[in-house]
Amino acid sequence: MARDRSPKCKQCRREGMKLFLKGERCLTEKCAIERRSYPPGEHGRGRIKQSEYLLQLREKQKARRFYGLLEKQFRTYYAKAAKGSGITGEELLRMLETRLDNVVYRLGFAASRAQARQLVRHGHFHVNGRRVNIPSYRVKPGDIVTMTPGSSAEAVMRDATDLTASVAPWLEADHDGLTGKILKWPERAEIDTPVQESLIVELYSK
Ligand code: SF4
Repeated sequence: MARDRSPKCKQCRREGMKLFLKGERCLTEKCAIERRSYPPGEHGRGRIKQSEYLLQLREKQKARRFYGLLEKQFRTYYAKAAKGSGITGEELLRMLETRLDNVVYRLGFAASRAQARQLVRHGHFHVNGRRVNIPSYRVKPGDIVTMTPGSSAEAVMRDATDLTASVAPWLEADHDGLTGKILKWPERAEIDTPVQESLIVELYSK
């Protein structure tokens, strides 16, 4: 499956904030945002002319990079969210949050979304007792996510749980048993993704 292979720290520097794309490194002073908080490139420290379009574009790029998606995948999510009856921006975030790779990360079983995606792809998780190796698989309230019995990645998951300060309120995690439950659909206030989704909607509505 295609994925964004561009340097992760450069993505954070471009967005001007920590997107926590590299796991443990993001929590240390080696983080590129701590050392060089200006945008990458020859003109990174130059003056950038702000515009409404630029603001909208940056917000969309930030969200896309946060969840590790390519443009086409992100647009598909937007199209589905726009077709729904709810508020488009909130529905978009809800769909992104309930991807299995994001849930594994939010439960604390992976140090980053990229690691979560790899663990899912390699079949290290079950959903409701069945192996699921599709990172975009959408979980729903009541679903139970567990480590595949005998998984060779157990040590990796346990290391990740040590880094986890808190679990999203719409999830319940048992870090000893490496199991998690989806309690309900996430509300906007329970999603800490640092984006203004209304700007993304404005961008795609043009
Ligand atoms: Fe972003 Fe993590 Fe790199 Fe810091 S270390 S710039 S948070 S990916």
